[in-house]
Amino acid sequence: MVARFDMPFLGVLIGLVFVLTAAGGPEPSPQSAVPIRVIATSSSVDFPDEVVLTLEAESDARISEVRLYYRLGSRNVRVYGYPDFTPSTRVKADFRIKTGGSNYLPSGVDITYSYTIRDENGNAFETDSFTLEYKDPTFEWERIVRDELVVLYHDRPFDRVDEVAGDVAERTAEVKSLLGLETSKPQKAVIFNGTREASRSFPVISDRASQDGLYAGFAYGDYDLFVLVGLSRSGMVHEMTHLLIDEAIDSTFAVLPSWLNEGLAMYFEPGSGRRDSTVLRAAQRDELLSLRSMGSVPGQPSDVRLFYAQAQSIVHYMMETYGRERMGTMLRAINEGNRVDQAIQVAYGISIDDIELEWQGQLGGTVSATPAGDPGTLGTTAIIAGSAAIAVVAVIIRWLRRIMAGPVAEVDDP
Ligand SMILES: [Zn+2]
Repeated sequence: MVARFDMPFLGVLIGLVFVLTAAGGPEPSPQSAVPIRVIATSSSVDFPDEVVLTLEAESDARISEVRLYYRLGSRNVRVYGYPDFTPSTRVKADFRIKTGGSNYLPSGVDITYSYTIRDENGNAFETDSFTLEYKDPTFEWERIVRDELVVLYHDRPFDRVDEVAGDVAERTAEVKSLLGLETSKPQKAVIFNGTREASRSFPVISDRASQDGLYAGFAYGDYDLFVLVGLSRSGMVHEMTHLLIDEAIDSTFAVLPSWLNEGLAMYFEPGSGRRDSTVLRAAQRDELLSLRSMGSVPGQPSDVRLFYAQAQSIVHYMMETYGRERMGTMLRAINEGNRVDQAIQVAYGISIDDIELEWQGQLGGTVSATPAGDPGTLGTTAIIAGSAAIAVVAVIIRWLRRIMAGPVAEVDDP
């Protein structure tokens, strides 16, 4: 059962062939009068390992080929594979989509699929399209929609989730305004209750990280969703900000440095704890990371905390000192393909080194009296090996770029 990827235009071609066949002659020949019939389709989720899609069909002639086409989330890439079955006039075909380990698929992803069936008389039949929302069937999931935010949750009072969803939607309106997004695609939040559920539902991460309960959530721009432990306003706003940035900065050529992505996500968190003491301590020891080295999250866990503290501090400085308009200009310049240092020059009229020096110069005055907890975030190219497997067969440049950038993992409070 090998899954292969086809280009989007192949999907269009196939659609076209069927349209042409249907409109082919004035009278359908006896053979084309529904020679292939679908008896049943069903799906089951063996969470978190696999999804099993089953088709039962019959035909007057022996069914020789069943092909399953599926699409994950709103991706442009359609995948196809061949379900297992024994050729016959009546067949039952199973197809398994692996969702665990290196094939990890986050909860909440919509799997949209259809079949084409062929028999030995040369007949072909294309089924309707079906959608399965992949999630743990052990729970009774409920759903709340607020603007473009869709919250999937279970075993929590509706009123509480509704209140938080409303607050998050309100806060993310500010993010959209900064990004120049008038509307956005629906973005799904999948809320887990506690670490036991999360450990079943999160991607494969290092044993150490699992033991430490290091992660609170992961954002997947490719699937327009995030998964999060607990109904946390700041966690939800943080992840929504990542997803909206991912939507707004959509050019093939745009490279958004992690310090900016994470710094903005932290900036919008309501009641976000500042991490200035971490930054100040590093400054006193002359251990600050250079901004130019902060394009991606460091691999060393010991550097991660400082990375987030610095990212938050500098973005806060840029937003508060120069205003949101310039940040918006800079993000647009990045989306037009400028490197971040060029974009800073365009929007702020000074170099990236100068803005870094300015920020360092004012550090002493911003010491927070109470050292905050550090919800921070971990970048994850290395952590989420699963996504890499998908990247191998990526056929669309933008998609490839995003996979390589990896989803964003959030570090829980220590
Ligand atoms: Zn983040």
